[in-house]
Amino acid sequence: MLEMEWRSEETADECYCSDEHDSFVPSDRQSSKHRTAPVPCACCSPVVSLLNSAMSVTDAQLCDVGHWQARAVEPPPLPLKTQLFVNARIFTVDESFSFAEAMAIRDGKILAVGAKADLIDDYEDADLIDCQGKTMLPGFIEPHMHFFPIATIGKFEDVGPFRCPNVADALLKLKELAQAAGPDEWIMARQIDPSLQEGAENLNRHMLDTVSTTNPVFVYNASLHFAYCNSRALEVAGINKDTEDDSSSAFGRESDGYPNGVLQGGKVMGMVIRHNPAQKNYDLADACLEVCYKANKVGVTTFCDQGTGLGRGVKELDMYQALADSGRMTARLRYSLSYALQEKWDQHGIQYGDGDSLVRATGWKIVSDGSNQGLSGLQREPYFLTDGSSEQDFGVAYVEAEALKEMVIDRAKRGWPVVVHANGDQAIDNTLDAYKAAFDLGLLKNGPYRIEHCSILHDEQIDRIKEMNLSPSFLIGHVYYWGQAMRDSVFGEAKASLLDRTAACEAKGIRWTLHSDEPVTEMGPLRCIENAVTRRMWREPETILAEHECIDVATAIRAMTRDAAWQCHSDHEIGSLETGKLADFVILGQDPLSVPKDQIKDIPIRETWVGGRCVYKA
Ligand SMILES: [Zn+2]
Ligand SMILES: [Zn+2]
Repeated sequence: MLEMEWRSEETADECYCSDEHDSFVPSDRQSSKHRTAPVPCACCSPVVSLLNSAMSVTDAQLCDVGHWQARAVEPPPLPLKTQLFVNARIFTVDESFSFAEAMAIRDGKILAVGAKADLIDDYEDADLIDCQGKTMLPGFIEPHMHFFPIATIGKFEDVGPFRCPNVADALLKLKELAQAAGPDEWIMARQIDPSLQEGAENLNRHMLDTVSTTNPVFVYNASLHFAYCNSRALEVAGINKDTEDDSSSAFGRESDGYPNGVLQGGKVMGMVIRHNPAQKNYDLADACLEVCYKANKVGVTTFCDQGTGLGRGVKELDMYQALADSGRMTARLRYSLSYALQEKWDQHGIQYGDGDSLVRATGWKIVSDGSNQGLSGLQREPYFLTDGSSEQDFGVAYVEAEALKEMVIDRAKRGWPVVVHANGDQAIDNTLDAYKAAFDLGLLKNGPYRIEHCSILHDEQIDRIKEMNLSPSFLIGHVYYWGQAMRDSVFGEAKASLLDRTAACEAKGIRWTLHSDEPVTEMGPLRCIENAVTRRMWREPETILAEHECIDVATAIRAMTRDAAWQCHSDHEIGSLETGKLADFVILGQDPLSVPKDQIKDIPIRETWVGGRCVYKA
């Protein structure tokens, strides 16, 4: 068998995004709990392109339908007869949020929704499916996640805070893996986040040597801008005291100059990771299919990738198409092109709306700042616990205000619905100014135009959002997972209460949505709904963060179905259960309106249907 060559080190180090992001990482930055300088967000990490370039699977293989077909069985064919679901409590999530008890589907579409007696009369020959009182909802729509990035790291063990509450648990989990691994096999893990996991401010090689001294161990920080490895990994990679740092990224060092196992930045991570022979055989296509299945399992029928191109460049579009054509795709994909590849996309000639109901281009993504929990979101005022003497105390503008204005105007002119990532209040000001310039020129015609995360909002910013008919999408896990950190160490109480202002937007008649931003938090629409309804905090469950921003369950459901479909420019075909729309729906074990609010996330997903096919059954 022909052994594939590793791609050149130059491509292995290429970041499709911007190399500058790595240079924000100084040597003492690995500790997120006490750091005083910004850490970029996972949305924009060089790791994805780096790991992809270490895989032997070629772009050509991933653009081949057969490659995808070989990795999954064909789903059952569409039933020839009409399927009639009866005795269901159907949330249609139509304009008036009405309920129904029966729904007929055929050829992947909804024929009718209504009363059981009427539909039984109208569809006499249908196969009858008795739902026995179970709740049916439109399939959930995840409006902001990162498809190829999740797949690229998906097979590494998740030892993050949502699986392992503290660092000791994470190390124990890694040790179990090492004990089960073959000799020399690398233990690969991800999501470690010392800002949320108690027990250590940081990992280093000595801590990871307790996992194994014979197997290399490599763990990505949740930000994907750092990693940690053990002594064996350094040894296998031939890295020692004399190994030089790269100009844009560095090895953490012990007092004698020996690397301490902290890898700060893409290039030094690459210097270690490329010695893992298993990375060559990483099955990206299988991992992509697993992302679809994982989405189905939590009730997601459509997801929107917010930053296409950061793993494999413009070829990703052909890969999406091969996946769609393979007949193995169990979730619909919408995507926003990453602005970082602007020239390449323009050469490619792709237009807004290209694609079909399975895969479609629906946005142009710009990342204007970093993340608030990483102290890189751009703020009007300096971060809490900083004195404002350094520019970094205000966070980081990835795109300066004037450049942002030009980008938004240029893309709006070309017909692209723009999607701007803005976490800090100053980044949101800049985004609103950019949209205002385009708005005044009459360019905002292919709405909705989105603001992603839109984390800190002042009243007058909400008015401006309303005035221009913009639409925010909130990473509601910022409240649940990071709420306490936002209050105690990022912003202080007053500003933290301006986080994810769902109720204030709702009161103004603004349409907004909720998202996971996986890999930042995991996809989980029911968890997102519960977080927005209760605003309770993970580490302090008795405390509610800004109670007046709590919204009701029906409104939160609408945010993850109908309004998310609208934000993804797909409300003509998905997002509600109405005649003529695609038969995408979920069947739940309980009614979210009747369970206690803090148990919504635990409601079991019984079945998930996409285009008239059952793609997941508990
Ligand atoms: Zn983002
Ligand atoms: Zn993102």
